[in-house]
Amino acid sequence: MMTMSRQCTITGTSRRRERAGREDFMDKLAIVVPCYNEEEVLCLASQALRGVLDDLVGKGKIAADSFILFVNDGSRDRTWELIEAEHAAHPVQVAGVKLAGNVGHQFALTAGLNTAKDMCDVTISIDADLQDDVAVIEEMVDKFHEGSDIVYGVRRERKTDTFFKRTTAQAFYRLMSLMGVKTVYNHADFRLMSQRAVEEFSKYKETNLFLRGMVPLIGYQTDCVYYDRKERAAGESKYPLKKMLALAFNGISSFSIKPISLILGLGLFIIFVSFVALVYALISYFTGRVVAGWTSLILSIWFLGGLQLLAIGMVGQYIGKIYIEVKHRPRYNIEKVIAGGVLPEKSAGVGKAQDGKA
Ligand code: UDP
Ligand code: MG
Repeated sequence: MMTMSRQCTITGTSRRRERAGREDFMDKLAIVVPCYNEEEVLCLASQALRGVLDDLVGKGKIAADSFILFVNDGSRDRTWELIEAEHAAHPVQVAGVKLAGNVGHQFALTAGLNTAKDMCDVTISIDADLQDDVAVIEEMVDKFHEGSDIVYGVRRERKTDTFFKRTTAQAFYRLMSLMGVKTVYNHADFRLMSQRAVEEFSKYKETNLFLRGMVPLIGYQTDCVYYDRKERAAGESKYPLKKMLALAFNGISSFSIKPISLILGLGLFIIFVSFVALVYALISYFTGRVVAGWTSLILSIWFLGGLQLLAIGMVGQYIGKIYIEVKHRPRYNIEKVIAGGVLPEKSAGVGKAQDGKA
């Protein structure tokens, strides 16, 4: 029943239009799993995720040809051979994409989502290490059927993370929000995205990817499911401190030009200080407590320092604008149009109009 209601509310894909109106219509799910040197955990992940697929197919929530898409991110171990073996053993349920080299988690995930989007109605991205609870996948699918296009997996607590990882991660989320970047607190890359959300996401052509910041820009109706993050099932973290810091810096620098505005503000502040210093220096000068040349020197240092920061900040404002322009991000995402006559392709619904926020 749920799948039927979904059929009426989603529009826009040829796949969906093809299947529309069919009694046996079911949403086809693709679970996208980026893998880098995950030989220890791959078979476990495949087994667990196939179990979830079987369960959901049995309950009539997804199509029988739903599948797992493993993306091999240039692994140097046997990960790809294992993916091939899994595919040979389960040709329908397991698919694989082999990237030519290691491009990093965010690119690998994007490659997987872009590959999957033309083959399915809905995607779920999850790490290979089973730290994210596969049991909430069903809840995600339910929320999708209830009308959400994006469902975020949110960690309820971080007991299993080390103290260091927990505090740095929380500081990072706070810093992001201070910088004006919209992210979902405690959500990593475990999320459901409908086909049309991935389609919209694929229009973001930027190279500095930070998916957690980009997905909220898409819009549509969103929801969250909560779970406790577990220990890695096997193997070691593929995100050493260096990669984590790079991701954090990328997150801020790809989404915010606030640091440039801060420089501008600092320049203005220092110029203000230089006026205070002017008063102080003049008083010192007239009370005769200074050596010759000190007044002019100290005033020049403060004033010129402030002026330089201000100038850098001003130039930075333009660079920030250029930076935003070159990203060529979609400026809006039209979800629905109601009009008389011929409707544009995107809003030509398969039945009644779509739900969800406009
Ligand atoms: N990963 C990847 N490419 C990389 C690094 C990591 O595809 O260059 C994958 C990895 O296989 C895993 C996911 O990204 O599925 C998250 O990595 P990991 O679990 O090691 O990160 P952590 O949970 O420790 O932050
Ligand atoms: Mg992990």
